[in-house]
Amino acid sequence: QSAWANLQAAPADKILGLTVLYNKDTNPSKINLGVGAYRDNNGKPWILPSVKKAEEVLAKTEESKEYVPIVGSPKFNELIKTLLYSHDDAGKQLLKDGRVLTSQGISGTGSLRVLGEFVRTFYPTSKKVLVPNPTWANHVAILEKAGLTTEKYKYYDFKTNALDEQGMLADLAAAEPGTVVLLHACCHNPTGVDPKLEQWDKILDVISEKKLLPFLDMAYQGFGSGSPIEDLGILFKFNKAVADGKLSNFVLSQSFAKNMGLYGERVGSLSLITSGPEETVRVKSQLEKVIRPLYSSPPSHGSKLVEIILSDEAIYQQWLKDVKVMADRLIEMRALLYDKLKNTYKNPLNWDHLLNQKGMFCYTGLSEEQVKKLIDKSVYLTSDGRISIAGIYPANVDYLAKAIHEVTT
Ligand code: PMP
Repeated sequence: QSAWANLQAAPADKILGLTVLYNKDTNPSKINLGVGAYRDNNGKPWILPSVKKAEEVLAKTEESKEYVPIVGSPKFNELIKTLLYSHDDAGKQLLKDGRVLTSQGISGTGSLRVLGEFVRTFYPTSKKVLVPNPTWANHVAILEKAGLTTEKYKYYDFKTNALDEQGMLADLAAAEPGTVVLLHACCHNPTGVDPKLEQWDKILDVISEKKLLPFLDMAYQGFGSGSPIEDLGILFKFNKAVADGKLSNFVLSQSFAKNMGLYGERVGSLSLITSGPEETVRVKSQLEKVIRPLYSSPPSHGSKLVEIILSDEAIYQQWLKDVKVMADRLIEMRALLYDKLKNTYKNPLNWDHLLNQKGMFCYTGLSEEQVKKLIDKSVYLTSDGRISIAGIYPANVDYLAKAIHEVTT
């Protein structure tokens, strides 16, 4: 008898399950709003022109496929520091003071897992992470597999489709001192709702008062404003809080999946803020001990592309343009869908949140029942009513708006 004879099948993944249904559907008008990946105006995946250029450079200059160091190449790590911590005075000060430790990670997921393992093993104060309600479902799985426990804090107001500021502040204020708190640095997934800068000040006050350990996750840097640098606004606030002594540490996971379109190359980074150079060396040595038994060292093709993009001025400028193209298209599709719903179909519901929410996703407020009816009309989205704006393009927006109108009236 097979060793796995009595193994139960795992429940199907929500999003992958949708894709299976979508692929089976023979309706030529079918729309997939489940995928969290950028699509162009024809609904096709897009390799960024900056990435194409970097591939050309790499093909000509690559000298080996040797292993890279456990935390990634020194060049990659220097460029990550420049990308993330050199655009504000506080960040520059942290760099100068030797308080920033970075490592390459296996995209956002791998970076989250490594940080989760590190926090569980070495953070002396708490093994509990507060996560927003709702959050990316994999956050809970990743952190719990890393041996941490998770608990939700209020985040989204399901009545107003906006941030539940009071609820969030109250839940954080009620946390045990020293608890870890996961925060989306921009373009919250799945809701598209980010706190405003002044709301971040209040959040930081509570974090500081309760001595919480912020765990920032930044998977959509650039999709909020169209500029990866402008989208660092929240990070600047955390850098300043550390520089001002309001906060001792934070950790950050970051991904190039979306903003460089390097999804399958699995490249990202993690950062830890320490108290100074001597501590940074100690923390790095332990971080290496966490990573080594997980995957020895990170993959190098994607990280070499990132190195080229971030170090060649012309390719870097092209990348900034590419990010803007993606962010602008998503903003246009939000406006187009809004216009169709309100002006063409005269839908009576309030759709302002379609315009106000940021990034790749919109939490529509559609009920599970309405989602089922949409799927019957060949419009595929998750049961929580989240739509990926990237799945909308000029040729399908009318069908989509009509379908939404029909299921909501
Ligand atoms: N964090 C959030 C909030 C995400 O939405 C995602 C991607 N869906 C990730 C992290 C990680 O993605 P990846 O591992 O592809 O970088």
